[in-house]
Amino acid sequence: MERVALFPGTFDPITKGHESIIRRALPLFDKVVIAIGINDQKKSFFPLNERKRWIENVFRKEDRVEVITYEGLTVDLCKRLGVRYILRGLRTSADFEFERSIGQMNKAMFPELESVFLLTTPDYTALSSNIVREIIRNGGDARPFIPEGVDLSVPKP
Ligand code: ADP
Repeated sequence: MERVALFPGTFDPITKGHESIIRRALPLFDKVVIAIGINDQKKSFFPLNERKRWIENVFRKEDRVEVITYEGLTVDLCKRLGVRYILRGLRTSADFEFERSIGQMNKAMFPELESVFLLTTPDYTALSSNIVREIIRNGGDARPFIPEGVDLSVPKP
């Protein structure tokens, strides 16, 4: 059976931290599905179609990576797709506490589901989409923190 991991997130925008987690997960799984969550309560900085196009472009040479968008609970998406593994990255103890509660709740709702966590590499511990947005908002150069293939020069919403 194909071993598929779902990597859910907002990716607003994708950073080198996300890219690193995905590339490091590829030897562990047959396929990684990057799932961009649409959350009505949380207005995104970059439009959904741009966030999706950027990720597709970063992984254009990797046919084992797929990018989708979804609404609703991540466990429902996993059930619908028949996916048994959720991939997440861990930077800090704050990430751990957050991920522990989500992971345990997901397991309560879908017992066959396993959450798989990869520790961030030290270079990317301080990196987040939030900080990248802050740099862009204030006219700084965010390119060192963004993967190759992401063209941030598009008009902002
Ligand atoms: P969410 O809104 O669900 O937190 P994000 O797009 O911010 O979505 O993050 C998706 C996943 O990527 C999360 O598991 C997060 O911990 C992980 N992640 C984000 N930045 C990094 C980084 N610099 N290093 C490792 N993992 C990261």
